Amino acid sequence: MTGSTGEAARKRLFIRTWGCQMNVYDSARMADVLAPLGYAPAETAEAADMVILNTCHIREKAADKLFSELGRLRVAKQAREAAGGGLVLAVAGCVAQAEGAEIAARAPWVDIILGPQTYHRLPEMVARASRAAGAVIETDFPVEQKFDHLPEQAASQGVTAFLTVQEGCDKFCSFCVVPYTRGAEYSRPAAAVLAEARRLVAAGAREVTLLGQNVNAWHGASPGGGSWGLGRLLREMAEIPGLLRLRYTTSHPRDMDADLIAAHRDLPSVMPYLHLPVQSGSDRVLAAMNRGHTADDFRRVVDRLREAQPGLALSSDFIVGHPGETEADFAATMALIDQVGFAMAYSFKYSARPGTPAAGAPGQVAEAVKDARLQALQALLRDQQDAFNRSRVGLTFPVLFTGPGRHPGQIMGRSPWLQPVHLLGDRSLIGRVAPARVLAAHANSLSGTLAAGEDDHPGPPRASLRAEEPAPA
Ligand code: SF4
Repeated sequence: MTGSTGEAARKRLFIRTWGCQMNVYDSARMADVLAPLGYAPAETAEAADMVILNTCHIREKAADKLFSELGRLRVAKQAREAAGGGLVLAVAGCVAQAEGAEIAARAPWVDIILGPQTYHRLPEMVARASRAAGAVIETDFPVEQKFDHLPEQAASQGVTAFLTVQEGCDKFCSFCVVPYTRGAEYSRPAAAVLAEARRLVAAGAREVTLLGQNVNAWHGASPGGGSWGLGRLLREMAEIPGLLRLRYTTSHPRDMDADLIAAHRDLPSVMPYLHLPVQSGSDRVLAAMNRGHTADDFRRVVDRLREAQPGLALSSDFIVGHPGETEADFAATMALIDQVGFAMAYSFKYSARPGTPAAGAPGQVAEAVKDARLQALQALLRDQQDAFNRSRVGLTFPVLFTGPGRHPGQIMGRSPWLQPVHLLGDRSLIGRVAPARVLAAHANSLSGTLAAGEDDHPGPPRASLRAEEPAPA
């Protein structure tokens, strides 16, 4: 849940967010645009005057989950109205974009349906919804950019913050709805990104993750005219005082250019961890997916990245059972995983998204076959993740402390490779980077102890970082 703050607020807002970090960012910005209307965060939907369901269309059964939640909220809304009050219900995000008309027909108690490009218009929609009989629907791709209409004073995101720099996609992978729900690629101008980054740092952020569906395709207008690529943007961001760590996600292998790869070599604040989806290790399947690269192209990009930053760890996305995938294709994916080695990965069975090219393609793979392949693939990825986590034990490296841990006296932070790290320490370390020695690896986290020589530096010089880090498993 995200929201604005303010003691004097009269109304409460609850936002439920599904899906990716871009949706998390969008939810925060929707809270920002509603703050001037007096909306402050609510802990639960039941305690709210307005509920926004910010949806994701990528995963299976997104619409089913949405309608079941809407059924529950209908009861809450009726109870509120019976007591003389009200509850404004809004559906946002990619399901709203793709299935707005169906939502209005099947759930007429929804007041507002808005696509990801229109949330800057929420205050106006709320006003219209109070007068309208049916749902207010805004799912077009307006010519004006929502980023130009967002309040400058965003609520603090804490020590780690997201910053959307790019939206949309022109690549049209066979299985993906993003080009249809988020529209064409758009890059925010560099000056706007840098200004927002400075505001985030002033509000306490020490790590900023640049977000985009194709973040490394970013090519924003530069302050002096012309345009910059993401490598140049990172170089500018690295100059912002107090901004200790930089990350970016999600990248496409085709858009990893030389300057961006060099940024991993040159900038200590660019963390040695990259999410780089490959989806499959088979050239046949990659072509069917319209990915625009081969398995060897991906291997070459990884080689260049590791040459630039030998401590780099990778995460990725995999889809098994894309239409036409044979046992040999699947074996090629397993071989690629084996060769490259991943510190983490997301993996899914292919499932058809209406309106995408693969949905009607011949050669749909049987569910049982997809299940078996996914199990085998996840077992291999799990082994690699475990081995990577174990390989950190005994190392000392800088941790950015982000908040209190679950147990008394414990604080938690993030390793350079995005692993949660838990240790006993003073809360005054929160917001700072300090060296920690890892004593144990767990399934999804590390635990350790503070090391001598606490400091606020983003990390040891590259040379010593390299010396300490074994290659990912
Ligand atoms: S590049 Fe990514 S966002 Fe674009 S269509 Fe492919 S999977 Fe979807």
